[in-house]
Amino acid sequence: MPNNTETLWCVVPAAGSSTRIGGEIPKQYRPISGKPMLMQTLTRLATHPRIAGLMVVLAPKDVYWAGMGSLRGKPVRTATGGGERADSVLAGLRALREQVEDSHFVLVHDAARPCVRNDDITRLVELGMPAGGALLAAPMHDTLKRAGTDNRVVVTEPRDTRWRALTPQLFRYGELVAALAAAQAAGIVVTDEAMAMERTGNRPLLVEGSADNIKVTTTPDFALAEFLMQKDS
Ligand code: C5P
Repeated sequence: MPNNTETLWCVVPAAGSSTRIGGEIPKQYRPISGKPMLMQTLTRLATHPRIAGLMVVLAPKDVYWAGMGSLRGKPVRTATGGGERADSVLAGLRALREQVEDSHFVLVHDAARPCVRNDDITRLVELGMPAGGALLAAPMHDTLKRAGTDNRVVVTEPRDTRWRALTPQLFRYGELVAALAAAQAAGIVVTDEAMAMERTGNRPLLVEGSADNIKVTTTPDFALAEFLMQKDS
C-alpha cells in the first residue's frame, strides 16, 4: 500500500536563460501580479500540504535570487543548474541526496508554470504514487498537423491519443536520477522527466490536469498567467 501521507520534496528548475523572450530580467524573475514569477510558483508549491520542501535550481550567474531559507514554513534549498533543463533537474535531484531515499517519490515542477492548481497536485500525488510514477497532462483539443520544412502540411495526426505533457511530474528518486543520468550519458536531451523514464522502459501515468497550467514562454503569456492566477485565487 502506498503511504498516502508521505510528504515529498519538489525540484523546481529555474535556470533557464529565457532566449525566446529576450529582455534584461530573466523570465523567471519578471513580475506576475507584482511578484517575480518564480516566487509565485514557489508560493503555490509551498502552500501544498504534501510538499515537504523546495529545491530551486538556479542559473550559475543568477544575481536575482532573494536567498530565502524557508517559505510558508517549508525549507527552501538551492542548487546550480546546467545547460539543458534536464541537466538542471539532475543537479537539483543530486543536491537532495542527503534528504531523500531512493524509494521516495519526488516532484519536479517548472518555475515557468505559476498557475499550477493545488487540487491537480493532490490528484497527481494520489494517483501517481500507486502507479509508480506520473505526470500532469492535458488532452489535445486542436487538430494536429505535421509540417514539412516548407510549412506545408505533410499529414494530419490523430489527436485522440495525444496529450500535452505538463508539470509537476512525480517519480521515485532513485529511478529518476538513474534515468536522467543515463540519458545525459547517451547525449540525449530529454525535455521532461517522463521522457527519461520512458527510455528506461517505464510507462508513466498521464493524470489529466487543468489546461490553465501554462508554461509562461512569451511576453503575452505574462498577462494571461496574471489573469489565470487571479481567477483561481
Ligand atoms: O526552456 P523551457 O521553457 O523548457 O524551461 C522550462 C523550465 O526549465 C523553466 O522553469 C526554466 O527556467 C528551466 N530550465 C532550467 N535549466 C535550463 C533550461 C531551462 O532550469 N538549462
